Amino acid sequence: MMRVAIIGAGPSGLTAAAELARQCASVRVFEKRDGASNLSRAVGITPGSLDLLTPCGAGPAIAAEAVRFTSMIMHHGARPIMRLPLNFDARSSVHGLPQDRTEAHLAAAFQRYGGQVIYGHKVTGLAQDENGVTARFANGDSYHADWLIGADGAHSVVRNALDTPFAGYDLPGDWSIADVQSRTWPHKNNFTGFLLPQGHIAVVVPMAADRYRVIADRPDARAALPVDLPIDHLNRSGTFTIGIRQANSYQKGRVFLVGDAAHQHSPVGGRGMNLGIADAAELARRLVDGTQDGYSAARHPLGRHVLNVSERARRMLQSRGARKALLLGMMHIVNRVPPLQRAAARQLLSG
Ligand SMILES: Cc1cc2nc3c(=O)[nH]c(=O)nc-3n(C[C@H](O)[C@H](O)[C@H](O)COP(=O)(O)OP(=O)(O)OC[C@H]3O[C@@H](n4cnc5c(N)ncnc54)[C@H](O)[C@@H]3O)c2cc1C
Repeated sequence: MMRVAIIGAGPSGLTAAAELARQCASVRVFEKRDGASNLSRAVGITPGSLDLLTPCGAGPAIAAEAVRFTSMIMHHGARPIMRLPLNFDARSSVHGLPQDRTEAHLAAAFQRYGGQVIYGHKVTGLAQDENGVTARFANGDSYHADWLIGADGAHSVVRNALDTPFAGYDLPGDWSIADVQSRTWPHKNNFTGFLLPQGHIAVVVPMAADRYRVIADRPDARAALPVDLPIDHLNRSGTFTIGIRQANSYQKGRVFLVGDAAHQHSPVGGRGMNLGIADAAELARRLVDGTQDGYSAARHPLGRHVLNVSERARRMLQSRGARKALLLGMMHIVNRVPPLQRAAARQLLSG
């Protein structure tokens, strides 16, 4: 039986694990944390991801627990200017769930196929030859497999061990998030976005009953909102910086990169986790059918496309002056024409 080592138990690593275990590979997932994550990072799950996760059972479990969004409502300051219905058919639906819950469903699927995440194992180095690859861990352990998947996030030790360049740039300034409980926020099923003065942006995204994620391109997400979000409890808040980067190649010999280890971009468009899930599902399929050497050539251009689309959308949403006036004009038109609303929603959710 083919032996695969996966480094990192985020959504990308767990998707690869569940899919490989389902298709009869012997899989070990090594994670540096001591236990499962409790961080709510990525919220939006696209229909494409749910489809990919249906065979292993995680997709239906995620959809059953998640919030299904009704609409996206964009505001100019505090004034609503465009509403896009998001659930006019199965392909237009988008679900919100805290990332740790998505990971729990993926880990449960992996477990159903006999797998288990091995925690407390921080990879520190690799060695490979034509017969296999050996991972070395900080605690002195090592593990030999036929193939190794680096799903260890943006600061990937696996990518560094391969000496693969991660070219790109960093966005200036701090972005921020808040994970809040609110019983009285009116948009229980709506994604709300706010275009603010000076080209700033903020969003409020439902992720569970009365629980919301706020993100802004300012150091204080809650203070950036132009409307009152009554908070019953603040679960977590923090700042982060954003890199726009992509690995030159997603494969070297017997080692592959998936998810944030292969690419990184802003939260605009909510694609990061979804792209990682798609990388992982495709790599699992290719390892099983023996076409793994085509993985990088297939996924790298898709990753480049998503980075470009996300960056174009970010620049547009953060624009000022004439470009912002054009954006607002377009939103006014789309808001009045249902076929344009549906086309815009499909565009947002494709992939
Ligand atoms: C605030 C915020 C909001 C976001 N919102 C969205 C969204 O709405 N939609 C979306 O699609 N994406 C979103 N993203 C992006 C999303 O969180 C990431 O793209 C996603 O987590 C990538 O998954 P991954 O499995 O590739 O990497 P990660 O989730 O980073 O997982 C990597 C795992 O590897 C482990 N690890 C790291 N180094 C080692 C090592 N040396 N040895 C062993 N284990 C290691 C880590 O502990 C971690 O568990 C958001 C990100 C942020 C920060």
